[in-house]
Amino acid sequence: SINASKDSKKPRDKLLGGLLTADFDEDSCLSRYQSSLYRKPLSYYTSQYLNSKLRSYEMLHKRCGPGTNAYKKATKKLDHDESYASKSVGECKYIVWIASYGLGNRILTLASVFLYALLIERVVLVDQRKDISDLFCEPFPDETLGIQIRVFSRRAGYFQHVMDQIITCTQREKLLPEVASQEESQVITTNTSKSPKLKAVLVTSLYPEYSINLKTMYWERPTSTGDIVEVYQPSGERVQQTDKKLHDQKALAEMYLLSLTDNIVTSARSTFGYVAHSLGGLKPWFLYLPVRGKASDPPCVKAISMEPCFLTPPTHGCEAKKGINSAKIVPFVRHCEDLRHDGLKLF
Ligand code: GDP
Repeated sequence: SINASKDSKKPRDKLLGGLLTADFDEDSCLSRYQSSLYRKPLSYYTSQYLNSKLRSYEMLHKRCGPGTNAYKKATKKLDHDESYASKSVGECKYIVWIASYGLGNRILTLASVFLYALLIERVVLVDQRKDISDLFCEPFPDETLGIQIRVFSRRAGYFQHVMDQIITCTQREKLLPEVASQEESQVITTNTSKSPKLKAVLVTSLYPEYSINLKTMYWERPTSTGDIVEVYQPSGERVQQTDKKLHDQKALAEMYLLSLTDNIVTSARSTFGYVAHSLGGLKPWFLYLPVRGKASDPPCVKAISMEPCFLTPPTHGCEAKKGINSAKIVPFVRHCEDLRHDGLKLF
């Protein structure tokens, strides 16, 4: 019929009506998108309810899954007490799947445990000691990190102490993996049983050296986790050229790109960074301003809210002279974390 021939020309919906998210890197798992092309087109779609449960599961997995503090705590406890699988770390509750029997049993139990986890809002931890990661693709869009580096000193540019501060902060906060030692590199290169995860890092700065050095660091050695870190910087304008169209367009594009990342590290006191994290609804890690050529310890602090900081708030009315601290009397307002005892922000 005419309708049938029209239908056969219609491009197939790669995302299967919302069952898959568009957030994956397609090349990371071709079968995810292509396996459905070998079948007849689906005559029915998944329910919107299931799709929304899948998206909220992905968010939960991001907050509680591998690479997060909650996961670290949970696995530490699991080492000592196997019954811990039914307990929780804060909002993070887990269910552990352990491989047993043949492949049929494994596929059915994995599907069942996933549906169960979806319904009871638990995170599935999959036992990867066997060959499971060689058979199936990583199911999560797994992660992006945004790093915005603004240098405010009079002689701005590349500074080794700022670079060191970025590395200390991102590794201490488990936002990026550490680089393996020479001996560890050998083990990681020969151990192929675990499929590596990909972490994409978006660096924005007027200076290209920060991303070049980060890229070189992860290029020369594998990471201690075996995961892969890719680093991108869209522009390196070197000098601020406000009101120049192309320059401002790049700045706007970069604030927007930063806002799309999963986690964000920004330089203290930069409104460029404030726009990026607020737009993305993200609570950033702020890199403290270096003092006299030295990065502070700790190198960064996690924000209490996604709100931007009001850098120059008015003093508290006529009582200003008495040293009244607005942050202590105005409700829902605090000093900004990145300025330590200055500025005001909503929390
Ligand atoms: P602030 O000075 O950091 O508070 O932020 P503003 O946005 O008001 O001024 C900084 C300006 O410098 C930006 O608007 C850009 O023109 C430029 N700039 C600073 N950092 C970057 C960056 O990472 N990327 C780009 N493209 N421009 C930047």
